[in-house]
Order: sequence, then structure tokens, then C-alpha cells
Amino acid sequence: MNIKQKGKFGRFGGQFVPEVLMPAVKELEQGYKQFRDDPEFKQELDYYLKDFAGRPTPLYHARRLSEKYGITVYLKREDLVHGGAHKLNNTLGQALLAKYMGKCRLIAETGAGQHGTATAMAGANLGIPTEVYMGAKDIRRQRMNVYRMELMGTKVIPVTSGSQTLKDAINEALRDWVSNVEDTHYLIGSVVGPHPYPTIVRDFQSVIGNEVKHQIMEKEGRLPDSIIACTGGGSNAIGTFYPFIPDTEVKLFAVEAGGSGMESTDKAALHSASLCVGEEGVLHGARTRILQDPYGQILESHSIAAGLDYSGVGPELTYLAETGRIKPANTSDDEALAAFDELSRMEGIIPALESSHALAYLAKAAGSGELGEIVVINLSGRGDKDLETVLEKGVM
Ligand SMILES: *Cc1c(COP(=O)(O)O)cnc(C)c1O
Repeated sequence: MNIKQKGKFGRFGGQFVPEVLMPAVKELEQGYKQFRDDPEFKQELDYYLKDFAGRPTPLYHARRLSEKYGITVYLKREDLVHGGAHKLNNTLGQALLAKYMGKCRLIAETGAGQHGTATAMAGANLGIPTEVYMGAKDIRRQRMNVYRMELMGTKVIPVTSGSQTLKDAINEALRDWVSNVEDTHYLIGSVVGPHPYPTIVRDFQSVIGNEVKHQIMEKEGRLPDSIIACTGGGSNAIGTFYPFIPDTEVKLFAVEAGGSGMESTDKAALHSASLCVGEEGVLHGARTRILQDPYGQILESHSIAAGLDYSGVGPELTYLAETGRIKPANTSDDEALAAFDELSRMEGIIPALESSHALAYLAKAAGSGELGEIVVINLSGRGDKDLETVLEKGVM
């Protein structure tokens, strides 16, 4: 598998890390190799996914949405996973892996606080002390998530260097990992970072796609014509797509946040669409497509959906986009807000603003026939966390 090729997807991915970090990533590589197929590990993870996280999640036939767009629309209900999003699939997997590897401390970094919260849940449930680095600015903006993490016994460490946001928190987490690798696992939240993270996170999130495959065969007796998922770092997208990659008749759409820009390939407008307008470079240990200026400085991303606000995208998605197996697309803030409103009214489901970007692509593409007759949309999370943002925009 990819492990053999040192975590390369074509020319993307790899391990672009300072020498001091090599022992840590090597050890993780070894640990994952040792336990990924271990029957006891798999059985224990299955147990947590089922009884703690609430899996399998339903594949829901969105009847009224289907009628409106004239195609059969299914929603994969990751919004029903404990915590309200797919993130727990990965944090449970990595926390359990850490335990099997004999690590007794988890660290993570978080921007808006969603990944920190999912890590806190896994850490509390498995009884592993957890510390989360968070920019001081983000701490002020996301008080409720900080409180959630603290309730679950996680220590939130404010980062006051640089811009006091996610990228500074990442630097601090890396520094911590280098100094404490013996007892500490660094729990990364998406399919980004140096090998083996993109592979590990993909494997843990593939539970989504595996369930979809089984469920759609049961309901329709055949595979869907297309699958749509929103893409920040790319973990819910690759997790949904991965089991379908050999099924080339299934079209896979990775929808990025186009920010406030509409239908543009202008970088200034497409604020977080790394696959669409990013350029090749190295970010956080991997070669991939990133938003950067002509001098290689990383550009900050801007999206109404905090979870899509990342300047890079996972190396495997970059590779799959380059080979044409997945189709990158993007939808704007306004299109996502319209989809948010539509799903709430028509199906009684309030979607996360991230997931609303995937839903918006249905409205955008349904008329062209490119989606075919049966489409699955991964509803990566629920929208309760986004009500304030939406209210401010005056949509409701
Ligand atoms: C974090 C998050 C995302 C983006 O992360 P990916 O790694 O791209 O999946 C998407 N949707 C929701 C609901 C999230 O919380």
C-alpha cells in the first residue's frame, strides 16, 4: 500500500519535516503498521464507533430535495455522530492507536475549536490526559468550545505568538511533540501533515464511505452516479470517496469554499479553494497544493465556514484531482447560506456551514445533468454551532 512508498501520492505527500521530528513520525509509522490490522484493535475501535459515537450513521433519502431537483438525493448523516460531525471518527481512532502504542498523553491544535472538542471527547472517554493548543485570538472568538473542552477535562493552552491563530498553534504543538515524543501522541485532525498522517486519518474516516457503499447497495441495488463532499483539509471528502476510487463510474466532487467570490478563478476571490487555485508547495510537512503568493508566503484563507478555512489540502486529494479521478469544485459563502436555509426548511435538518458548501453544489450542478440520477452528499456536520454566524448574515 502507500505505506511502502513512504506516503507519496504521485509526487505529493511525503515527510518534509525537520530532522528532530523524524524519530516521532517513524515511530508513528511503525505503530500504525503494527496495529492497523490487529484484530483486537479493530474490534475495540468498532465498539467505540458503535456504542460511543453512534455508528453506523443513516443514509437518508432526502425526499423533498429530490423532488425539487429531479434526481435521487441521499444524505450521509455524519451530523448525527456524537459531537455533531465526522471528526470523532478520526480522534477516536488515533486516541486508541496512541493507547496501543503506550502513549499516555494526547496533544492537538485547534482553530475554531471543533477538532479540539472532538479530541477532548476521545481523550476523556479513553481516559488519556489531553492538552490542546489554541491561538489566543481564537480562544476569545470561540469561548463555548473552550468551555466544552475544559468541561471534558482537557487543558486548553493559549498561544500568544504570531497572529495568535491556528498556524501558531500548529507550531506550538509541533514543538511540544518534539520534546515529549516518548509519552505523547500528536493527534492531527485532517488528512494533512507529514506521512503517515494523511493515510491514518483517511483510513479512520473511510468508515463513512464503507457504510455508504453497503447502504446504497441495500437501498438502490447499485452504486450512486456521483458523490459530493465539502473539502477543507479533506478528511470527510477522502473518507467518503476512498472506497469508491476503483469504481470509476462514480463521479466524485470535492467542493471547496469559494469565500465571497462567485464563479471565479481569481485567487483574491477564491479564498480557501486550494485544489482549485492553489499552487504546488510544502505546507506542514507535505507537498500539496496551497494558497501562496508569488514569493511562497502562505496566504490566509477566508470562508464563512471555519472548518474549510485552511490554506492547504490533503496530498492524496491533490493527487486524485491531478489524475482526474476527483473533480474539484467550489461554492461561495452566499451559495452555502442559501443551501443552509434550503435544507433546514425542506428537510428539517440544519446543516453545518461546511456541509452547506457541498449541498450548494447540488443546486449549482443538478440542472446540467453532470450528477446523474443518484447522488450521495456527505452531510459532514450539524449546523447548531453556526447559528450566530448565520444570524449575523441576516439570512434567517
Ligand atoms: C472540520 C469540518 C470540516 C472540514 O474538515 P475536512 O478535514 O475537510 O473534512 C467539514 N465539515 C465539518 C462539519 C467540520 O467540522
